Amino acid sequence: MHQLTLAEIARGLADKKFSSEELTKVLLARIAQLDPQLNSFISLTEDLALQQAKAADARRANGESGALLGAPIAHKDLFCTQGIRTSCGSKMLDNFKAPYNATVVAKLAAAGAVTLGKTNMDEFAMGSANESSYYGAVKNPWNLEYVPGGSSGGSAAAVAARLLPAATGTDTGGSIRQPAALTNLTGLKPTYGRVSRWGMIAYASSLDQGGPLARTAEDCAILLQGMAGFDPQDSTSIDEPVPDYSAGLNGSLQGLRIGVPKEYFSAGLDPRIADLVMASVEELKKLGAVVKEISLPNMQHAIPAYYVIAPAEASSNLSRFDGVRFGYRCADPKNLEDLYKRSRGEGFGPEVQRRIMVGAYALSAGYYDAYYLKAQKIRRLIKNDFMAAFNEVDIILGPTTPNPAWKLGAKNSDPVAEYLEDVYTITANLAGLPGLSMPAGFVDGLPVGVQLLAPYFQEGRLLNVAHKYQQNTDWHTRTPTGF
Ligand code: GLN
Repeated sequence: MHQLTLAEIARGLADKKFSSEELTKVLLARIAQLDPQLNSFISLTEDLALQQAKAADARRANGESGALLGAPIAHKDLFCTQGIRTSCGSKMLDNFKAPYNATVVAKLAAAGAVTLGKTNMDEFAMGSANESSYYGAVKNPWNLEYVPGGSSGGSAAAVAARLLPAATGTDTGGSIRQPAALTNLTGLKPTYGRVSRWGMIAYASSLDQGGPLARTAEDCAILLQGMAGFDPQDSTSIDEPVPDYSAGLNGSLQGLRIGVPKEYFSAGLDPRIADLVMASVEELKKLGAVVKEISLPNMQHAIPAYYVIAPAEASSNLSRFDGVRFGYRCADPKNLEDLYKRSRGEGFGPEVQRRIMVGAYALSAGYYDAYYLKAQKIRRLIKNDFMAAFNEVDIILGPTTPNPAWKLGAKNSDPVAEYLEDVYTITANLAGLPGLSMPAGFVDGLPVGVQLLAPYFQEGRLLNVAHKYQQNTDWHTRTPTGF
């Protein structure tokens, strides 16, 4: 039963082959048995899950239907869940039980999804390896000595190991697409403003976006349908109709114009990944697509710009964790300053502290123009590059990451080496564009992802292309040994 996709689960529940309660029990037992190897969950919510599963079964018995009604999922542990610990992977929030549900959590619960638990993540979503979590590193099910990617590494590892069919993630600079690539999943970062950020603990507010992680594009369509939509509680949410993503999966790719940026194939890219990317292009050509080389001339500036903007916003967002209002407070503070210093010094891990320092520095008087303002200008140039490219092509295709997964600990002493892994993903966040990563082959037994980018609000196009590709390839069906 654990092999079923969301789409298959929906059919099985509709045909009364099994109940949501039965399925939920099977998956909870599987998590108990296998997750100790992976560490993909921070909290399990067994009681809530069984209660939601029974309620979904009752709704089905009353004639209700829906692709998510009774479907087991999990949430990255930065989506607020009422009465349940919402830790953001940090000691700072280890004792924080959210007083309300994030919009995404509330919407999925209303659609009948069953929450099995909260997944592990890099602390405050800062990282590309899921090693900065207060709750310990997550292991990649394809090789337990390797990282699963981050920051949504718990969601990715759990879905890849067939502990559950799909999970939510968030993507500020690649945190859905990069772990999807490293664990052989399909992951989608929607257009900025497509999915509500209300109740999603902020890292860098102008870049953060929630989205689905699943094995197939078909399942990403189902989960995104439950997440997307205007939310008056989020001032950056956009009031744009949500199309029927599942209905759009089978559009023809005849004449689809694919742009492949020449800058993507630089020295930093593993040549074996480059070959797999070109193989995916050949596959799409067979389906009728036409391919064109394009240029994104400002791409080389993306990492420096991102690693100024994201820490700057983080330093501001994380100022609320001060030992007074939320979360961790140090023992026996001598005075107010000591309370602030030690609560933050003890509550935040080293990567979070590094980002706060960098961000505060970049925003400080005298350096603002040199760093933050300049980074914002680069951000506009990157957006302009994309706008020009989308005048010529319908979709941009390239690698999701320059390398496959790396060994746990391999980049711990060199944060910049880890930042460089984000080179292909962060531009979509800087521009606010939707992006998807899909399985496209293996290098040394480790999965490789191909990234597709589309114009604003064209999530449906990304899902359509990925679905067609998946109907003609079997990379996404490969299962890690032992799971
Ligand atoms: N790796 C990037 C960072 O550390 C992106 C993380 C994310 O998307 N949340 O900032």
